[in-house]
Amino acid sequence: MNKDNLKDDKFIQVKNLKKYFKVGNNAILKAVDGVSFNIKRGETLGLVGESGCGKTTCGRTVLGLYGATEGEVLLEGTDIHKLKGKEKKEFTKHAQIIFQDPYASLNPRMTVGDIIAEGIDIHGLYTGQERTERIYNLLELVGLNKEHASRFPHEFSGGQRQRIGIARALAVEPKFIVCDEPISALDVSIQAQVVNLLIELQNKFGLTYLFIAHDLSMVKHISDRVGVMYLGTMVELAASGELYDNPLHPYTKALLSAIPVPDPDVENSRNRIMLEGEVPSPINPKPGCRFVARCKYAKPICSEQRPKFKEIEKEHFVACHLFNDK
Ligand code: SF4
Repeated sequence: MNKDNLKDDKFIQVKNLKKYFKVGNNAILKAVDGVSFNIKRGETLGLVGESGCGKTTCGRTVLGLYGATEGEVLLEGTDIHKLKGKEKKEFTKHAQIIFQDPYASLNPRMTVGDIIAEGIDIHGLYTGQERTERIYNLLELVGLNKEHASRFPHEFSGGQRQRIGIARALAVEPKFIVCDEPISALDVSIQAQVVNLLIELQNKFGLTYLFIAHDLSMVKHISDRVGVMYLGTMVELAASGELYDNPLHPYTKALLSAIPVPDPDVENSRNRIMLEGEVPSPINPKPGCRFVARCKYAKPICSEQRPKFKEIEKEHFVACHLFNDK
């Protein structure tokens, strides 16, 4: 697929999405707190941030696995949180997820063939020999072979299990896949293979991905655009190259400065931005910028008002009071 001319930039629209969880009597955990972004058809949007920043909750709410507290998620104009019955079931055919942990996400008592065919069976897509052929095709598509269909998950390595998870997601021919940290649990040597497989499948089927990760270097490799989350909010969003070459938000700058450089001379001489202070709790957060306690540029307004998420340069959005006048 030619990505130079990504059209339909409103394939997925996430508008002011919030997902809160009640914890205790008067406490609200604001895991996702007013996040907005679009995903273009056929692109990969990377979503990064430290653990606990809300990126996984965001991905699951975009997919409808969690109900939204507020806001909308539109897939081709339809709000997926308003779907019911048959329409909701139909939506699950179009939107799938690949989970982080290939060990926990596969039922150990089911054969690989039956795991892959779960979606096929739910939607009644194929039966008998056609079902078997479809399973074989999917196994080959992800670099496994048909002999693997009768085996059980424990007989496979981590990378192979993730391939099974990918085959399961592809079985219903989805348009959109949330890849929820699909490589975090894998050996570094295997990570690139799985990422390359995802890219190959995207090119083949025109898939759209929301790729969630905390490893910024791998996100750069796969993503067309990248969004950075901090404590339930989106702080910056830009084309992948632009974000890595010209980060604007103090938090993004700190995250990028922590990526090791393979050249030892460069690595030894470069300046790392150390994040000061603790990550605050997402439970009953204070007003103002969520990053204020760790930001060396903080000014009084930062503790009082939450910065707006604004387009500062073409398709480069940032939420920071340093850019209020731009
Ligand atoms: Fe720092 Fe203020 Fe910008 Fe937040 S809004 S990142 S505290 S300068």
